[in-house]
Amino acid sequence: MRQIHICEVGPRDGLQNAHHLMPTEAKKAWIAAMAAAGIEEIEVGSFVPPKLIPAMADTGEIVSFALTLKDLKVVALAPNVKGFERAVASGAHKVTFPVSASRAHSMANVRMTPEQMVEEVRKCVQLRGKAGPEIEAGVSTAFGCTMQGVVPEDDVVRLAVMLVDAGVDCVALADTVGYANPAQIRRLFKKVKAEIGGKLEAAHLHDTRGLGLANALAAYEEGVRHFDSSMGGLGGCPFAPGASGNVITEDLVFMFESMGASTGVNLEKLMEARKLMVAAIPEEPVYGHMALAGLPKGFRAAA
Ligand SMILES: [Zn+2]
Repeated sequence: MRQIHICEVGPRDGLQNAHHLMPTEAKKAWIAAMAAAGIEEIEVGSFVPPKLIPAMADTGEIVSFALTLKDLKVVALAPNVKGFERAVASGAHKVTFPVSASRAHSMANVRMTPEQMVEEVRKCVQLRGKAGPEIEAGVSTAFGCTMQGVVPEDDVVRLAVMLVDAGVDCVALADTVGYANPAQIRRLFKKVKAEIGGKLEAAHLHDTRGLGLANALAAYEEGVRHFDSSMGGLGGCPFAPGASGNVITEDLVFMFESMGASTGVNLEKLMEARKLMVAAIPEEPVYGHMALAGLPKGFRAAA
C-alpha cells in the first residue's frame, strides 16, 4: 500500500525549462519506464501555445500515449481556458493550473492577475461538467518570488480559499523558485490547511537552494502525502530567473522508502528510467545523490 503519492513532473516542469529538446519517441520511452518503475502519476506536458514553448508542442501525442500505460494517472498543465479545452480533448485524467500568489509572477507567467486567474479556473470548472478531468490548482511562488521578493502568507491563504470556492478538486502549494525553508513550509501548510482542510493536497518543491528534501520532510510532518518531483532534478521556471531543479524524484523516493513510508516505486527500475532520460538529453545538467552513490548495503524498501 502506498503511503506517499509521487507525481513525476520532469516531462513537463523539467523539459519545459531544459536547454535541449527531448524527441517525442524518447519522451514516450522515458515515461513508460517511469510508469513501469511504479510511478503512479506523471505530469506529461502542458497545453501552451507551441510557438511559446516548443518543448511542449507534442503534448497531445504524449498524453494519448501515456493513456495507454496501465494504472498511470496522466496529468497535463493548462494556463487558461484554451489550454484546458485542449487538455479535455486529449483525455488527460487531471489538469493542473498554475496560479501565482505573486502578482508580478502572475503577470509575467500568464498575463493575468491572481484574481483573473481564479476566474479563468472557475470557467474551466464550469466547462468541465460532471465527466471531465480532475482539476488541481497549484499556488505557485507561495513561498517567495524572484520578482516580488516576499509573498505575504495571507495572500497565499486567501488565494487557496478563492480557488476552493471556484470549485477546484485540490490545491498544491508550490515553491516555484526554491525560496522556502522547513519552518516556513510547516507554518504555511498549517495555515492553509486550517482554511481549506483536505483540499490542500500536494507540495511542489524545488531544490534550488538545496532544501528540497528538508522541505519535503517538513511538509510530510504537516500531513502532506502528495509530492511533485522530477527525475534528475530537471526543471525550474522560465519567468523566474535563477529557478532550477525540482526536488529530485530518486532521492525523494529513497528518503521515504528508507523511513518506512511506501511510495510504490522500485528504485532499481527508477534508476534504469533515469538512464533513458540522460541518454535522450545527454548535455542537460542532471542532479541526484542516489545516482552518484547507489543504494546502501542492506537497504530495504518500505513494505
Ligand atoms: Zn515547478
